[in-house]
Amino acid sequence: MRAFFFGLIHIVMSFCPVTCGARAYYWAGKKTGARMTLSGKTAIITGSNSGIGLGVAQTLAQAGANVVLNSFTDRPEDHALAARIAKEYNIQARYIQADMSRGEDCRALIQKAGACDILVNNAGVQHVAAIEDFPPEKWDAIIAINLSSSFHTIAAALPMMRSAGWGRVINIASAHGLTASPYKVAYVAAKHGIVGLSKTVGLETAEDPITCNAICPGYVLTPLVEAQIPDTMKEYGMDRETVIKEVMLARQPSREFATTGQVGETAVFLCSDAAAQITGTTISIDGGWTAL
Ligand code: NAD
Repeated sequence: MRAFFFGLIHIVMSFCPVTCGARAYYWAGKKTGARMTLSGKTAIITGSNSGIGLGVAQTLAQAGANVVLNSFTDRPEDHALAARIAKEYNIQARYIQADMSRGEDCRALIQKAGACDILVNNAGVQHVAAIEDFPPEKWDAIIAINLSSSFHTIAAALPMMRSAGWGRVINIASAHGLTASPYKVAYVAAKHGIVGLSKTVGLETAEDPITCNAICPGYVLTPLVEAQIPDTMKEYGMDRETVIKEVMLARQPSREFATTGQVGETAVFLCSDAAAQITGTTISIDGGWTAL
């Protein structure tokens, strides 16, 4: 009787114009790879000449956004990277040098870009040491680049978003914005700060068509993570493979690194209409780390 009842519902749904239309749309999207377009939007991604920032910039460009790349360097290869992305995705791309450890540079980046519909605060650095040995200048640099820079860029970008009538602020936090690890005192403090900043800006823009959220990745194999491996090997007295398996991915129950593309696709989702009511919160991409 139960099987008959559910079978009947299945047949009715197959012929219902609403469910049928929704399913056709879903499969058309799947088959054709059709996706939302961010055409005409300008996305500024801080710290985007490498790693996650570059991956997010490429994914936003693939979704049609014009992108502004950034880092503190001003090398020919930085500008060549922007030119390559412009050509590959048929969008406009520029590289603007700005040092995210300096508040005035952060604000100047937004002003020089001239428009900012999507702001991705991604620039970040790391240092691994016990608190007693943690160099104060490393503390200052991590708090400035990983936290204070977002305060400055958001303050400069919100008036542009308000006058454009639409905006998305996406802060790249970390699983370390929700939980801690030893020897990363400045990074954990800065990332918890970014989560708090995202909640506050989410509230301050709640009545505008603007959202502000933090993406919290677990480990993603990028130059930043590569650079931590030698220090972590020293702290734990382990070889490279053991540090990757037993220290880094030990906290990530999937035992797999997340990818820059997965972070980029999450950013594209946060720019979609489907995410218009998601604000002041976090999205984890951590293979189950923060479920533990
Ligand atoms: P990465 O070292 O590859 O990239 C960092 C980027 O920031 C680079 O483009 C670098 O040039 C830029 N940058 C550094 N100092 C800067 C400054 N003063 N001004 C402007 N740009 C500066 O590292 P990543 O792993 O891609 O990290 C990117 C972000 O993702 C960071 O905020 C990091 O905390 C976060 N994150 C990374 C992981 C991971 O496992 N890789 C996990 C969670 C969160």
